[in-house]
Amino acid sequence: MQFRDLKTQYTVLKDEMDKAILDVVASSAYVMGPKIKEMETAFAEYVGAKHCVACNSGTDALLLALKVWDVKAGDAVFVPSFTFFASAEVIAMQGATPVFVDVDQDTFNMDVVDLERKIEQTVKAGKLRPRVIIAVDLFGLPADFKAIRAVAGKHDLYVLEDGAQGFGGRMGERKACSFGDISTTSFFPAKPVGCYGDGGAVFTDNHEWAELLDSYHVHGKGSDRYDNVRIGMNSRMDSIQAAILLVKLKAFADHELVDVNKVAARYTEKLQGVAKTPIVPNGFYSSWAQYTLQVENKEVRAGLQAALKVLDIPTAIYYPIPMHRQTAFGYLNLADNHCPVSDQLADTVISLPIHPYLFEEEQDRICKAVGDFLEH
Ligand SMILES: *Cc1c(COP(=O)(O)O)cnc(C)c1O
Repeated sequence: MQFRDLKTQYTVLKDEMDKAILDVVASSAYVMGPKIKEMETAFAEYVGAKHCVACNSGTDALLLALKVWDVKAGDAVFVPSFTFFASAEVIAMQGATPVFVDVDQDTFNMDVVDLERKIEQTVKAGKLRPRVIIAVDLFGLPADFKAIRAVAGKHDLYVLEDGAQGFGGRMGERKACSFGDISTTSFFPAKPVGCYGDGGAVFTDNHEWAELLDSYHVHGKGSDRYDNVRIGMNSRMDSIQAAILLVKLKAFADHELVDVNKVAARYTEKLQGVAKTPIVPNGFYSSWAQYTLQVENKEVRAGLQAALKVLDIPTAIYYPIPMHRQTAFGYLNLADNHCPVSDQLADTVISLPIHPYLFEEEQDRICKAVGDFLEH
């Protein structure tokens, strides 16, 4: 069994996909070119943002956003401790200081009460200038942007939505990757919409920032590519990935997002009372980048993972080490009780196979195996 079955997806999309890829090969427009513009327009329209700039990864997308806001040494950037490393890594890459915020046990997303507390502590300490909140749409569920925006407004901070896992999620009718002053996503193959390699995008409604993003992602270009007006990077998306993403977006919007939600609903129904199933608050809609259970403790989790492995059912631990305990951030010398909920989740979460092509029989087998282990 596959954790995320990209092969079946390819088989379903094969004719259209092969043609899209070979058209780019035949065109010889491998870098930039019309496919990139087409992809940017389609993704901006889907998300409901005025501008989309395609780039080389979700990590670069975050980094580009911080460059636009000139985030630098002396700046504090607030980010959840329970996330993928890249959300926090980019802050340090700019020379700024990450301030880790705990998460909510039910949604896995930023805890707004702890956010306020960490902002106030930072202001009081007087060493760093608070600049940006990076809120992550973990496992496909949008963060509580209404509450986060209120806090940001109060303290005059920018909101950067890390929608690497959130693409396709919604709050009301509004789509993920439109909630930040700048929002980003990743097209790494295993994300809700993935390409066949690395890829990412940045979204914003701000015209001036969109122009800066366009410049930063091609060596800080000015009026043309040999006129360089700022220090940028090489973070172009390959045309071939743009062509792949146009095919994938269509399938995602046509049926995949609905199908993956059916799979998630079935898990929640069948595993009710067996383990703590993920909670989607009223008015929210998830794109289910992961389906994550919480079990009693680390030992139970190790046992469950081993029992499933024997039955050829793959599982994953997202994430075993929160940011405030990462070796790379050891220089911050954080207190042991910095983010207790993140610590607890790191020991108790386990993610099950989920994707739009998971057959009911396979899912029944997974649920039975989980039930058999946890109920005995
Ligand atoms: C995957 C991921 C990223 C980084 O995306 P890449 O395309 O792999 O660089 C950033 N943030 C989160 C939350 C992610 O899951």
